[in-house]
Amino acid sequence: MNPPPLVPSPHASHHSPSSQSSFDVIVLGLGAMGSAAAWAAARRGAKVCAIEQYGVAHALGSSHGDVRIIRKAYFEHPDYVPLLHEAYTRWRVLEAEAGFPLQVTSGLLACGPGGSETIRGLKACYAQHELPHERLPNASLRERFPFFSFPSQHEGFLDPAGGYLFAEKCVEQFVRQAQILGADIRLNETVREWRADRGQVEVVTDTLTVRGGTLVLAGGPWSNEALLRTNLPLQVVRKVQLWYRFPGMETCVPPEVPAFYFDLPYGAIYGFPVYGPDGMKVACHTGGEPVAGPESVCRELRAADEGPLLHFFRDVFPGVTFRRSRYSVCMYTNTPDGNFVLDLHPEQERVCLAAGFSGHGFKFAPVVGEIMADLALEGKTVHPIDFLRAERFLGETLKPGE
Ligand SMILES: Cc1cc2nc3c(=O)[nH]c(=O)nc-3n(C[C@H](O)[C@H](O)[C@H](O)COP(=O)(O)OP(=O)(O)OC[C@H]3O[C@@H](n4cnc5c(N)ncnc54)[C@H](O)[C@@H]3O)c2cc1C
Repeated sequence: MNPPPLVPSPHASHHSPSSQSSFDVIVLGLGAMGSAAAWAAARRGAKVCAIEQYGVAHALGSSHGDVRIIRKAYFEHPDYVPLLHEAYTRWRVLEAEAGFPLQVTSGLLACGPGGSETIRGLKACYAQHELPHERLPNASLRERFPFFSFPSQHEGFLDPAGGYLFAEKCVEQFVRQAQILGADIRLNETVREWRADRGQVEVVTDTLTVRGGTLVLAGGPWSNEALLRTNLPLQVVRKVQLWYRFPGMETCVPPEVPAFYFDLPYGAIYGFPVYGPDGMKVACHTGGEPVAGPESVCRELRAADEGPLLHFFRDVFPGVTFRRSRYSVCMYTNTPDGNFVLDLHPEQERVCLAAGFSGHGFKFAPVVGEIMADLALEGKTVHPIDFLRAERFLGETLKPGE
């Protein structure tokens, strides 16, 4: 079933006259994080204005490409697990409000050599948190998932709660549900300036000046720009997601084929069961070309983009012919430690930061939204985000070319 169209906001237009309304929370950016923050704040009865330079669920930032992996087991850092429990709960709330599925629980198979970061991280995560999982030594991997040819040194874990989210539909629903709750959604409006002083914030676009109690900066890969003044050492990296058709792809579906993540010497390759006519979506999580920002990123496909994937196909699907059907360029916004920044702005207590999602933030969007609503409306949160505070980077800046 297709979702109903977005409710037109009485104020949403390309050329609104200048307005001076006062809001509780102003949100900059309607990617996954800003749209979730707008929804969370609106659910609490706050008067919300959210400003986006493009349309809803556009393909120029970091929240597009049909699908995003969701999983409970977190090899990157076990402290994410409590946030994931909360995120899962809130995805279900959004799904109930939407009235159609936003998530597929296909399971998530992660595998790699025993000593790899992935396997060691998963073992640490399962030791610390009680999470349902299946441990799969090499022989069990082969027996259980004959669709893949596993390297002989690989072992794996199946996360039965893992799967994938329909990314654009999720963003559309955050925005739609926020709008239903009264949020003022301003599309095709670029924030040119913001000020925070004398007990309020003021946000200026080409056509509007909006005043409010607090500002949430959720600018994704634009967070580095002087305008946003996040003062964080963020590195924007170009990433390419690709889709391939292959003979027999109709059978590449759950439960025989879960979402997957392979830790390989030439990169961490992840992918999805076939969910549509474009075939199997695959991408490489590691590496990527550092870029100055979204405006300078190359949106064309380059020969080198497919390198690790072609290697992966040869290793894991020997003899199968994959034909590329589609590609899409996206961006990661990386922090030095690969963990997010969720905090009040170190110098502006009326400004909240949701940035540096380092290529793994989407699944957390509704809990990030909650945390932003907490920080914006109460100045604090009960969610365990100490490891994500901005202060860990105070004084750190990126050197040119880093
Ligand atoms: C290829 C790829 C694959 C990924 N896979 C996964 C995955 O499987 N699982 C997972 O959990 N995560 C994944 N991620 C990461 C996840 O998608 C991102 O962390 C998340 O989408 C970031 O959302 P965001 O809101 O911070 O950024 P964005 O979606 O980029 O949103 C920022 C918004 O701010 C707006 N904006 C910026 N400046 C201004 C301004 N001055 N005025 C008005 N608007 C402005 C932009 O237009 C944009 O819409 C992946 C990311 C990529 C690129």
